[in-house]
This record gives sequence, structure tokens and C-alpha cells, in this order.
Amino acid sequence: MNKNLLYRSIPKVDVLLEDEAIQGMIDGYSRDTVMEAIHTELDKLRKVIASASDEEEVKRQIDLLVPHIDRAVADMHTPNMRMVVNGTGTILHTNLGRAPVSGEHMKRVLTLVSGYSNLEYNLETGKRGERYSHFEKLLCKLTGAEAAMAVNNNASSVLLILSSLAKGGEVVVSRGELIEIGGKFRIPDVMEQSGAALVEVGTTNKTHYDDYEAAITENTKALLKVHTSNYRIVGFTDSVTIDELIPLAKAYDLPVVEDLGSGVLIDLEKYGLTHEPTVQESIAKGADVVCFSGDKLLGGPQAGIIIGKKKYIDMMKKNQLTRALRIDKFTAATLELVLQEYLSEEKAVKNIPVLQMITEPIAEVEKRARLLARRMRAAHLPAQIVVKPCESQIGGGSLPLERIPSMAVMIRPEKISVAEMEERMRSLPFPIIPRTANDTIILDARTIKQSDIRLVAEQLKEYEVLEKR
Ligand SMILES: *Cc1c(COP(=O)(O)O)cnc(C)c1O
Repeated sequence: MNKNLLYRSIPKVDVLLEDEAIQGMIDGYSRDTVMEAIHTELDKLRKVIASASDEEEVKRQIDLLVPHIDRAVADMHTPNMRMVVNGTGTILHTNLGRAPVSGEHMKRVLTLVSGYSNLEYNLETGKRGERYSHFEKLLCKLTGAEAAMAVNNNASSVLLILSSLAKGGEVVVSRGELIEIGGKFRIPDVMEQSGAALVEVGTTNKTHYDDYEAAITENTKALLKVHTSNYRIVGFTDSVTIDELIPLAKAYDLPVVEDLGSGVLIDLEKYGLTHEPTVQESIAKGADVVCFSGDKLLGGPQAGIIIGKKKYIDMMKKNQLTRALRIDKFTAATLELVLQEYLSEEKAVKNIPVLQMITEPIAEVEKRARLLARRMRAAHLPAQIVVKPCESQIGGGSLPLERIPSMAVMIRPEKISVAEMEERMRSLPFPIIPRTANDTIILDARTIKQSDIRLVAEQLKEYEVLEKR
């Protein structure tokens, strides 16, 4: 093989630029990205020649140069963030974007964010307004709190609360509540960043009233309760409830702060789930400040919602950190729409996707599973396809022990392994993320939208996902 000859047969850049297809790419995209793609693909080709042992293969690669440049340019202009189908059955899947937001809400938000809005403008006075004003009254009405605000996420809430109430002082918290919230972020570490010193009391499984009382000094600025939302301590356990903490805090004139993690505004027990303390209960019991996530069980946008006594919320609104942690117009707009749904529980359960998925009757889920299985069988895929009961989970660090009865399409590929099939499903144009167990691909229909069923079945057929390659 004469490699020099092969190197010389690679088209030169100026020749490529004359090419009609390349001209089309420059017109359609940009000259810069086309040039970048040309150089990348030419480099690749030189490497192919350097390590080649098959001359025909090299010639084939040279012939494919222009299509390869086309694909490289198109890739550069294709957004990497894409819609995926969540077949895992985990409703609040943090890696898949946690709470999906309703399409109807997004349509309304689109009109607000693609132009100007009264985000921080008081239309009555013609003066500067507050970005919380759009949902503060609603939050107070729904929870019984005196005042409310929101920041970037709930980790920010904790940071801002402690910085505002306890900077330079001490905060008492139970050892049983020092949690890691995922991605290696730990509540105690977030708290330290606020400039407040944590005073840990009790043991992992037991903390008593006396432990809190003994820890209070003249430097104590607040008592903190963290809802252990993503794990449960069971067995020989004891913790001090918020009702017990309130009188103690009152006696020492200290505020009680409660980090609820997942903010639930409706009683999930009604829908067959374990009771999860609601935000209203916390306020009714007398917590001074309560915070929770916007995109966990609330089913809204990513946010950290802080509610409570006006005196404390005002301190937070004035804290310089608030400027760094503030929510944007997308969040403010979405939050108002989601909270408005809660004015009627019936509407909330119907129009907020997270609540809709959690409460959807299994018969409806089964219909979708059967429809998907039917479409897949009609495509004559080389696999065993059956519909079977399974269990969905809430995820996102909420109700960790809870399992919701569900229905899934179980797929056993006949020609390839489950691992191979899972990998191929991930690389589809609309990636499908399944759960796998016992050599089976599981697609839990609870988290798959009706409108995605066709897409799932057709992609599996069209891209020959199940065929030996
Ligand atoms: C999830 C969680 C957080 C963090 O909330 P983000 O909105 O993810 O920042 C903080 N505290 C508790 C108890 C949580 O469960």
C-alpha cells in the first residue's frame, strides 16, 4: 500500500470549499463551523491512513469525507439536551430533570418570557416591585404562613435561612437528621457555608428533648429540624417532633426552622400513600421558618421555597446572598401557575404531572402498557413481550420506602443481551431509559406519557434495536 499516494489523494481544503455540498453547509450553518468540521475530519482521515492495513477501506473513508463533514457540522448545531422517555417508573428522577412541568403551563410561560413582563414592576404604582409578589400571597393562603419567598433551590434555602438567622452563632440539629442530599452534597456542609456553627445533638437513632435543651447556649440562634426525606431510620429510634421543640424554642426565644425537603401541600394518604408531613401542618404546629423544594412533590420548577413569620422572611429578603440565589422569570412565572392549581386539590391532581402520575389509577397505567405491548408485537420484534405488574417509586429523595403498584412492558430480547439492548435504547434519537432486572428490560408505563407510546414502539422497530448487528 502506497501511503504517500493515499495522503495525496485527500482533497485539499480549497478544493473542498468549492464543493457544492460544502457550499450548501456554509449557507445553512456557518463558515466557521464548516471549517472546523473540515479540519477535524481531515485529521481523522490522516490518522486512518497512518494506522491502515486495508487500502480499500481507506479509499472508502476518503469517499465518505463530505458526508462525514456534513454529519459533524449538523452535530455541532444539534442541541445536546434532548427529550428522553422515562421508562424507569421513578417519578421524580433527578438525573432526568426531576418534576416534569405541564405543557399548558409552559405555553403561558412562553408568552411571559419571550417578551417583557411585570416581573419586578408594580403595575399599580409604576414603581419597582418584588419578584415574589406574584406568588407570595398564594403561598401564604395555601400554607397559612405570614410571608414567603423563593430562591434557586432548596439547598439555597437552607444556606440563606442560616446565613440570615444564625451567622456567627450556633444552630442546634439532631445527628439523626444530618443528611446527604445526592451528588455528594451534604446538608451539614451547606450549613457550614452559611457561617453558622452546627451543634449536633443526640445519636444517629435517638435524640431526646433534653439533648436539645442541654445544647442551648447564649450563642444559639436557632433550632433546626431536617425532614429525613431520602432515608428512614427504623427500629430502636426516637426523635423530637416539631410540637415538642416549639415550647422549648419559645422558652429560650429562639426560632424553629424546619427543612421539609419535599414540600407536600396535599394529604397523600388520601391516595393510598404513607402520610408525608405537609407544609401546612408544619406552619400550624408553629414552625417559624419552613423551606422545601419546588421540584419535588410540589411538582413545580426547580426552586427553594421559604415561608414563615414575616420578621424572619424580611431578614432573608434583605440578605445580600438573596441576590446571588434569586430565581429567574421562568421560575417565578411557573411557580405562580403551579401554586394556583393548588387552590383546588382536584385541579392540582389533574394538572400537575407529578401528582397526576402518583395518583393515576393502575387501570389507566395498564391500558398504556397494553397499548405499548400491542404496538411492539405488531412490529414483530425478536423478543418476548409481556405485560406484568411492577412497582413505581417516587424518587428525588421523597418517600423512599413508598412503592406504587404499576404495570410494565417486560421485554426479553431473543438475539442480543439485555445490556446491549439497554445501551441501544439510550442512543436512539429519542432515548428510552428503562429499568433492568433479571435479564429483562422493564418499561414502567406509569412514567411514560400516552403521547410517547407510538414513539417508543416505532423507534424499537425502525432502528432495529433488537437485531443482531
Ligand atoms: C432534596 C432536599 C434538599 C435539597 O433540595 P434541592 O431543591 O435539591 O436543592 C434539602 N433538604 C432536604 C431535606 C431535601 O430532601
